[in-house]
Amino acid sequence: MAERKSGIGSWFSGRGEAETAAESFPVQHSEAEWRQRLTPEQFAVLRQHATERPGTSPLNNEKRPGTFACAGCGQPLFAAETKFESGTGWPSFFQPLEGGVATTTDRSFFMTRTEVHCARCGGHLGHVFEDGPAPTGLRYCMNGAAMGFAPKDESE
Ligand SMILES: [Zn+2]
Repeated sequence: MAERKSGIGSWFSGRGEAETAAESFPVQHSEAEWRQRLTPEQFAVLRQHATERPGTSPLNNEKRPGTFACAGCGQPLFAAETKFESGTGWPSFFQPLEGGVATTTDRSFFMTRTEVHCARCGGHLGHVFEDGPAPTGLRYCMNGAAMGFAPKDESE
């Protein structure tokens, strides 16, 4: 098991373990390959299930039309229209794009939560809770570090 790099510890509040390791995904890389492809922050979240400290992601304030995609493999995850201000300090959505994400049961930290990961590379994204707004009642609580944002081209 790899150790967390020093210096990131102050930025992340924790690291959970979920049951995604046994699954296989269309996009697969070795741990060393992921380390090369990702920033230390992205690696800690996507591959080690870390949680970024709330309020640290620039994507919290992203309000333009567009698409949020997996930072690991580029899979489109959420449309900007489904983002809402949850007040948690993490980018929050009430509905993922169809086929974008998958979930597992996460029993780390003495809690039972539903872990959300990228359906294409298995990268950890965050958790989903049942206290979100209409129409789904779901709150996808995502780590901004796990995602990139592609603004919609307004000229189209
Ligand atoms: Zn991915």
